[in-house]
Amino acid sequence: MRIDIVTLFTKVCAEYAGESILKRAGEQGLVEIRVINLRDYTPDRHRTADDRPYGGGAGMVLKAEPLFEAVGDLKTPASRVVLLSPRGRLFDQEQALRLSREPHLILIAGRYEGVDERVSEFLVDEEISIGDYILTGGELPALAVADSVVRLLPGVLGDPESAVDESFSRGRLEYPQYTRPEDYRGMKVPPVLLSGDHEAVARWRAREALMLTRERRPDLLEKHPPDEEEEKWLEEKDKKEGK
Ligand code: SAM
Repeated sequence: MRIDIVTLFTKVCAEYAGESILKRAGEQGLVEIRVINLRDYTPDRHRTADDRPYGGGAGMVLKAEPLFEAVGDLKTPASRVVLLSPRGRLFDQEQALRLSREPHLILIAGRYEGVDERVSEFLVDEEISIGDYILTGGELPALAVADSVVRLLPGVLGDPESAVDESFSRGRLEYPQYTRPEDYRGMKVPPVLLSGDHEAVARWRAREALMLTRERRPDLLEKHPPDEEEEKWLEEKDKKEGK
């Protein structure tokens, strides 16, 4: 897979892409992440990428021209062009999985007051938001998308089960995790995790994941309803707590 990040702030993107799992995935040839400086596509000698909004108002807007030029240069018939924008579709694990099946992503990081509307209308395939809050630029959102997508590429995580087990993968938050020591200042690891009984551990994890999801993210349970065994666990818990 190839991911191109188009940005005015190349350093932050290149540094993040050059660390940890993204770096390793690049070295293994599983992904190629390229950071593209939008200023390389500006036509004037001042390398101007932004201008004042028509109609007046605060701040500056990213110009259409350099973005059209950059995407025109990078795009192939297999590319999917994504603008990071607070107006976009909310990003989640399902969207990450969908994008991980694309051979080539072009991620456009906006800045200032945003991007000339003609980019949304005529250049990009979709807009993605990483949440209902406003960041200064699209670099963090682009990196969030790239990171979550790369984790899902076959061969990237050492243990393929890791991605399957993580929060959201099966409509459940992840179960609690512990590491050594068994007893830290009187705070003990649940005994079942030390039992060596793999089935019991799997059952405990599934049950804990379910209870956490109901407590913290009941919306996920509505989208991914409990199966028969899970229903039983929920009823048992409610009965125990006199609900
Ligand atoms: N004036 C814009 C608005 O109200 O929608 C916000 C512009 S924001 C300061 C600058 C850039 O940061 C955006 O063009 C976008 O690329 C990026 N950005 C900010 N928040 C984001 C979010 N929640 N998700 C995705 N991108 C975001």
